[in-house]
Amino acid sequence: MLSVLSIASEAFPLIKTGGLADVAGALPLALPRENVEMRVLLPGYPAVTAKLDSAEAVHDYLDLMGGPARVLAGKAAGLDLFVLDAPHLFDRPGNPYLGPDGRDWPDNAFRFAALARVGADVAKGVIPGYAADVAHAHDWQAALAPVYLHYDGAPRPATVLTLHNMGFQGHYYGDLLGPLGLPAEAMSLDGVEYFGGVGYLKGGIRLADKIATVSPTYAREILTPEFGMALDGLLRSRAADLEGIVNGIDDEIWNPETDPTVPHAYSALKPEPRAANKPTLQRKFALAGAAAGPLFGVVSRLTSQKGLDLLLACTPGLVARGGQLALLGSGEPALEDGFRGLASAFPGQVGCVIGYDEALAHMIQAGVDFLVVPSRFEPCGLTQLCALRYGAAPLVARVGGLADTVIDANEAALTAGVATGVQFYPPDIGALDYAITRAFDLYRDPVIMRRLRLNGMRADVSWRHPARAYAALYAKLRTPS
Ligand code: ADP
Repeated sequence: MLSVLSIASEAFPLIKTGGLADVAGALPLALPRENVEMRVLLPGYPAVTAKLDSAEAVHDYLDLMGGPARVLAGKAAGLDLFVLDAPHLFDRPGNPYLGPDGRDWPDNAFRFAALARVGADVAKGVIPGYAADVAHAHDWQAALAPVYLHYDGAPRPATVLTLHNMGFQGHYYGDLLGPLGLPAEAMSLDGVEYFGGVGYLKGGIRLADKIATVSPTYAREILTPEFGMALDGLLRSRAADLEGIVNGIDDEIWNPETDPTVPHAYSALKPEPRAANKPTLQRKFALAGAAAGPLFGVVSRLTSQKGLDLLLACTPGLVARGGQLALLGSGEPALEDGFRGLASAFPGQVGCVIGYDEALAHMIQAGVDFLVVPSRFEPCGLTQLCALRYGAAPLVARVGGLADTVIDANEAALTAGVATGVQFYPPDIGALDYAITRAFDLYRDPVIMRRLRLNGMRADVSWRHPARAYAALYAKLRTPS
């Protein structure tokens, strides 16, 4: 069995701020089938150490970035974990990155350099009886692991860096090389030097053996200045080692046949009961039940990345055509106020719940006709995968993972019987408005709608494919050049 150490700053269900946690928590469970054993190294936040079963201290540091630390080995939530127990760095409740004032902890550079340093040590075999063939680092928080392994020299495990969110890069100024334990030569274009400072993500991209991101389209997009977040030039130089692997979802949690939050259970084999979930959802959002038009849904963070300002502008037209909107989300106050305003301007046609509500998210997916995801950029996107699984046709911007996972209901796809939703491009008001018009046209034909729903429900959106793709990537790397 190939042994992989995943180094991550969060993992569902222990601690989560975004999709990185979903991947870090789900991939290890899907890999054994592919003959890969994955252990996960996590920081010892209180939320993690509190849930660790039968933890055993397996390695000590007298001084790790300013204090003593230990590595604990144990299990939590079905995951085989190493936990970096370093109270001076991680014994802080709440968000893993932000202090009580909502700003980054001032020592984040050291907190996550420590995670990466320990990841490199553990992967190399500092713990008796354990060594990894591959060290798999996630995002900037772990991106120094391949850097440390590079400068430590051979023998070393192979390295992979997955990019989940390039919006955060870990870019720091100051005389950091000494405190980080990196050699002077690291301060170069071929190392961590980035605009005169130290770039953690930059260094990882430069020095990891392979780079993965969370969809093939996003892997191409980040080679352009528009999506590359100032790293596109470096990424172009590494394009031969860059791969896009679409995330999966947990198809047991997201199973409309067994989901306790879905009032009328259904499946691809028995899809008929789904129709009864729409009126329940309409009542939940105080929408008129007798409406004959399509019901559009949103489950999202309300941010400009998600393009919901475009939907805000298109909603009066959607309502004028006889459609309805049920929105669940929270985020930027202007968007929250905007959707609240629409709900009071169009009672019975627009409903919104501002907040985070896992159960309601499931009910929306089980009840709406179309799930709208008008993102300006979307590395992978999970809501459209949930929508496919639940028979809601995704209406999405053709960017990133949305482009890779939804098949547009154009003439060719309809004729071939493979369409699953509607795509539009570019992410602007005109294109979204036209896509909504197309959704109304599709909705008028129950045979087509049934086809779209069934195609989506039959698509494999589980972790099986991604796990196979990661296993193939690790296998290619087993012997680093
Ligand atoms: P991102 O990670 O950029 O926010 P994704 O689509 O990749 O977007 O993942 C978002 C996940 O969070 C999905 O599983 C979605 O269902 C869930 N989610 C987002 N907003 C809410 C909300 N307000 N209530 C419940 N679940 C939400």
